[in-house]
Amino acid sequence: MVKHRILKLLCFIFIIAFFDVLLLERLYDRTIDIKPIPLSALEKVVPVEKIASFQIPNEAIEEIKRYCETERKDFIQFFSAYMAYNDFQLKDVSYDFNQPYYDEVKYPAAIEKIYEMLLKDVVCFPIPQDSNKNTNAYYFNNSWKAQRTYGGDRPHYGTDIMDAENENGRIPIVSMTNGYIEKIGWLELGGWRIGIRAEHGGYFYYAHMDGYADHMFEGKVIKAGDVIGYMGDTGYGEEGTRGQFPVHLHLGIALPANEALEEFWINPYWLLNYIEETKVTIHE
Ligand SMILES: [Zn+2]
Repeated sequence: MVKHRILKLLCFIFIIAFFDVLLLERLYDRTIDIKPIPLSALEKVVPVEKIASFQIPNEAIEEIKRYCETERKDFIQFFSAYMAYNDFQLKDVSYDFNQPYYDEVKYPAAIEKIYEMLLKDVVCFPIPQDSNKNTNAYYFNNSWKAQRTYGGDRPHYGTDIMDAENENGRIPIVSMTNGYIEKIGWLELGGWRIGIRAEHGGYFYYAHMDGYADHMFEGKVIKAGDVIGYMGDTGYGEEGTRGQFPVHLHLGIALPANEALEEFWINPYWLLNYIEETKVTIHE
């Protein structure tokens, strides 16, 4: 009799939990209303290649933030004007913002959307704070559009964060953003990968994983800092292929472009550089 009741109760809990998950996902889905960037139109008026290379030193982002705070200016608006004024690529710039012309710089509205997708959702570096597993033993370089040869010559659309100890499953990978898992599973190029749609519409792509964290599934709501998997060397072949390259995380950022939601890949290198000091602590 008691057993029967417990079983009923368990069934009840299961059903509630099931619908709860469904409902949560639906609610969340609706909050991420993907508004694509009109890339084809944009291409005619601004240097899209330069926007994609997203070259900006840390100090510039910090200076702009500080300036916007003291002057009470909208960060994304000012950032867009500043980038447009500097031809969308910053190297050595003077941070003299007290020039009235930034308010007069003209640029397409989509520029703000691009920088919003890139700067508003990123919360933390994809590798957590150092632990006794020596997770700080990693390095990364700017390899934007470097040549890759597997599956034909193609440019590299991302940043590789290498495990300096080259050991599968050693370094945890955390989500850089809030969002939900849009894609999960094997890709010939990416191996075991997870793609997370962030709140403003950007797609954050984590590839070559050794394996996923527990309970990862399509549609799952993810918080920035959640462990999603572990660094590995999977990919470049049929399902399960390993060891075709050293252990690393391939991190890609794609913005939804045009009505067909094509992928507009952005260089994550400078952003990773900027966010590198912001790591979450995980407890394992
Ligand atoms: Zn890569």
